[in-house]
Amino acid sequence: IKLDPVYLQNTNNVMIGSIINIEDITEKVKLENMRSDFVANVSHELKTPLTSISGFVETLKLNENIDKQTRNKFLGIIESESDRLKRLIDDILLLSFIENKDSIQVDSVKIYDIFKEVYDMTIYMAELKDIDINYEFSDEKLSVLINRDYMKQIFLNLIDNAIKYTPQGGKIKVIVKSESKNIILKVIDNGVGIPKEDINRVFERFYRVDKARSREVGGTGLGLAITKHIVKNLGGNVELKSELDKGSEFIITIPNKNFLS
Ligand code: ADP
Repeated sequence: IKLDPVYLQNTNNVMIGSIINIEDITEKVKLENMRSDFVANVSHELKTPLTSISGFVETLKLNENIDKQTRNKFLGIIESESDRLKRLIDDILLLSFIENKDSIQVDSVKIYDIFKEVYDMTIYMAELKDIDINYEFSDEKLSVLINRDYMKQIFLNLIDNAIKYTPQGGKIKVIVKSESKNIILKVIDNGVGIPKEDINRVFERFYRVDKARSREVGGTGLGLAITKHIVKNLGGNVELKSELDKGSEFIITIPNKNFLS
C-alpha cells in the first residue's frame, strides 16, 4: 500500500487537514519485479555466449602457433555461440513484440499449407535422430482467419521441442483437427517428460527443467513463453500433460471465432 499525504494549510500557514490517497500497488510492484527479473535474466543469458566468444577469440589471438585442428575447434565454438546469441535475440524481440500487442493481425490462411511447410522443415530433423514422427491432418480444406507466421511459430516450437527432448529412436505424433469449429493441435512425444512440479513453470520465460540439456540442444528457454502468448492473443489455450521419463502431450485449442468456413 502506498500512502501519499497532501497537507492542507490556511493562509496563516496553519495545518487544517490532510488528504490521504491510498493506492494498492501490489500489482504494480509485481509487474515491476517481473520486468527487472526479466532484464536480469536477459543480461545473464546474453553474457554466457558472449563470454565464451571473447574467451576463445582471445585465446586464438594469444596463440598464433595453435595447431589447425584446435583452431578449427575453437572457431566452431565461436560460430555456434554466435548462432545461439542470434537465436536468443530473435526470441527476445519476438516475445517483447507479442507482449506489447493486444491483438494480432490476421489473414485468411489454409492451415494445411502451414502444416506442409512445418512438415518439410521438421521431418529431416526427426530423421537425423531416427525419430518416428507421424503427422495426421484431418481437413485439408480448412481455412482460418489467423496470422500465418505466428501459427507456424506455434507448430515449429512444439514440434522442435518434441524432437529436442525425445531420445534417439523415439516416437512423436502431430495431430491437427477441427472440433466443433476449434482448431486443435496436439504434439505428443514419448521423450524425457516433465516432472509434475515443473509442468506449470515451463511456460515462464527462461524456465528450463534441465538447463544443461536445453543448452546442449540449442534451446533459448523462450519457446513456450512465446507459444503461450501467441495462443493467448488468438483467444485460445494451451494444455500440457506430461510424465517424467514417459513423455509429454501439448494440446493447443484455438477458438472458432477465427474460422472462415
Ligand atoms: P527451450 O529453448 O529450453 O527448449 P522452451 O520454452 O521451449 O525452452 O521450453 C522450456 C522447457 O520446457 C525446456 O527447457 C524443457 O525443460 C521443457 N520442455 C519443453 N518441451 C518439452 C518436451 N516436449 N518434453 C520434455 N520437456 C520439454
